[in-house]
Amino acid sequence: MKSSDSVTVIKGVGEKTAALLEKLKIRTVEDLLHAYPRDYDRYEETVNTKEIQKPGVYAVAATIKKRPEVKFTSRVKVVTAVLSDESGTLKATWFNMPYLANSLKPGGRYIFRGRVVKNAGSLVMEQPAVLSFDEYEKLLHTRQPIYNLTAGLGNKTVSRAVAKALEEIPIPKDYLPEWILEKERLVEYRSALRAIHFPKGEKELLSARRRLVFDDFFLFILSLRLLRGVEERRENRCPVKPGKEAERLLKELPYKLTGAQKETLQDILQDMGKKGVMSRLVQGDVGSGKTIVAILALLSVVESGYQGAMMAPTEVLARQHFEFVTKLFSEHGIFCRVVFLAGSMTAREKREVYEQIASHEADLIIGTHALIQKKVVYHNLGLVVTDEQHRFGVRQRELFSQKGGAPHVLVMSATPIPRTLAIILYGDLDISVMDELPARRLPIKNCVVDTSFRPNAWKFIGREVAAGRQAYVICPLVEESELSEGENVVDYADTLRQTLLPSVRVEYLHGRMGAAEKESRMAAFAAGEIQVLVSTTVIEVGVNVPNATVMMIENAERFGLAGLHQLRGRVGRGIYQSYCIFVNTSGDEEKNKRLEILNQSNDGFYIASEDLKLRGPGDMFGIRQSGLMEFSIGDVFTDSDILKEASEVADAVLSEDPALESEKYRRLREKIDLELLRRTEGALAL
Ligand code: ADP
Ligand code: MG
Repeated sequence: MKSSDSVTVIKGVGEKTAALLEKLKIRTVEDLLHAYPRDYDRYEETVNTKEIQKPGVYAVAATIKKRPEVKFTSRVKVVTAVLSDESGTLKATWFNMPYLANSLKPGGRYIFRGRVVKNAGSLVMEQPAVLSFDEYEKLLHTRQPIYNLTAGLGNKTVSRAVAKALEEIPIPKDYLPEWILEKERLVEYRSALRAIHFPKGEKELLSARRRLVFDDFFLFILSLRLLRGVEERRENRCPVKPGKEAERLLKELPYKLTGAQKETLQDILQDMGKKGVMSRLVQGDVGSGKTIVAILALLSVVESGYQGAMMAPTEVLARQHFEFVTKLFSEHGIFCRVVFLAGSMTAREKREVYEQIASHEADLIIGTHALIQKKVVYHNLGLVVTDEQHRFGVRQRELFSQKGGAPHVLVMSATPIPRTLAIILYGDLDISVMDELPARRLPIKNCVVDTSFRPNAWKFIGREVAAGRQAYVICPLVEESELSEGENVVDYADTLRQTLLPSVRVEYLHGRMGAAEKESRMAAFAAGEIQVLVSTTVIEVGVNVPNATVMMIENAERFGLAGLHQLRGRVGRGIYQSYCIFVNTSGDEEKNKRLEILNQSNDGFYIASEDLKLRGPGDMFGIRQSGLMEFSIGDVFTDSDILKEASEVADAVLSEDPALESEKYRRLREKIDLELLRRTEGALAL
């Protein structure tokens, strides 16, 4: 058995579990071991019910005095029980677990452990685990891993599989040479893996994490540097001149470019005329106007006789770019053949587009990852733009060059990271920063409220809609085994429909809907046919509807601030005053402090760094969960010191052995080759 084998080699992992893991992109044992816990559950001593005064996670030792009640609502079955101890009582509820009503016998004594929330003014323990005293004794003072899950896959299943894998499958020897481990005081790889899943204590956990974060950054930086060696020798085979039509379009736009937009465009056009091929990162906060800059650059490329491609991370976003560009070109009478390519298209539609691309009947190709599928063959591709992607950059060019081109690469990102970090992380890219918002934008007005404010917020939305504007509502997150995400959004939309005037069209959007359906909803919202869009965070990236002026975010306390900042960036994109309402659903006022940071600033980096100060080192997984960067465990903010060290060590290694050819770096080299391969394959398989 090897760690590269399928997860099914692990005892107890059958086809069914494997299929569920596959949804989380976990295929091999190695993938499983690298699917680190997103948090840990600490089992503390039980408390008296009387001591529970505010929301939080607690365990109580209590007796069931009366048979639990079962209620059926339209969608869920709710079991309610009263937990009694010497000090008093606490209410507990369970969703969709009707059998508990029979198994919790009056007179029975158990440990109940779960999250206590404030519901209509009183405290309720939701969905507690029911354990025997013996079972609890075993768990006391331990930390149990909490994994990312998907419907049907339980935390216990994953945790058992990981434990078995650690026990049964030999993990190869450490690929970091001894001197690095010593210099950086890093723990050995195998024990780090074991400890990150099942830490014996805080100290062990921290040192395991430190090792894995180091690896995360080190391998990334090293592979970038290795690639750059190749890059520097790469000549510009697609010299581009600024196009006449692009210039005309620029003049005819209804607005003037900001200074930052002009400079960035100039950087790009200059780069593409130079001797070497372009690799440039454009960093600009949400709303800074990156799209038009990319389009003007792409148009010049097309005018110079090449194809251009623009790739977005989601189909909704890609479609929006496509529609925006088609409309813009037709309004200004620009002759440029634009095609759309995405995974949801039928095989026949795709084939047609492939042909148009191969024969150069298409000048500009806009789409999703479908753009780098094996079947797509470009004809003289000059520039690839990737929108809202953080890590692809040069590797993407590798993929495109396998397709017979050597295009310029432009990466656009709203990730707010300081320049010093950007230089370490994107050592392979030149950077343009767009730090200026278009003029005539009114700053967004923000407020942090609790759930009692909901009716007011809905009224406010009603008034904005009456004035012709539109609104987003981001729905509460759902706990595992509660309602499914979809139902939650559907219910919320229903409530809003009943609250608002019948003429207001309220629709919902969530991740489980089909791509075509999602898209048509989003398109209808962009076209103003839908006034209120109730959604999960699927709308997070890049969507542009300037007429939307209200963003109401439920459960705001559970998001990272950087994530909230991105969500807020969906409004305030037009000439109207916009508003953002953060609803703190927890009932815990402490949490408002964090949210208040968003009130103070609209600057993404300031927000992220203030968030950090508040969190302190105990919160190891905080910001990372906001999806800022796609490292598996490292966080460029909280771990910036490790990032710097990893960068220094990478430099030291390469100055000693530029191509990693010596025996002592053999295992490291193999690891990096594997990493590169996995990434490229992953991208192709999408
Ligand atoms: P992002 O940088 O977040 O991708 P977009 O490119 O989507 O931002 O631009 C946001 C909005 O600002 C769009 O409606 C766009 O038309 C508009 N916009 C872009 N540049 C300017 C400008 N210089 N002046 C006024 N509005 C602009
Ligand atoms: Mg954008």
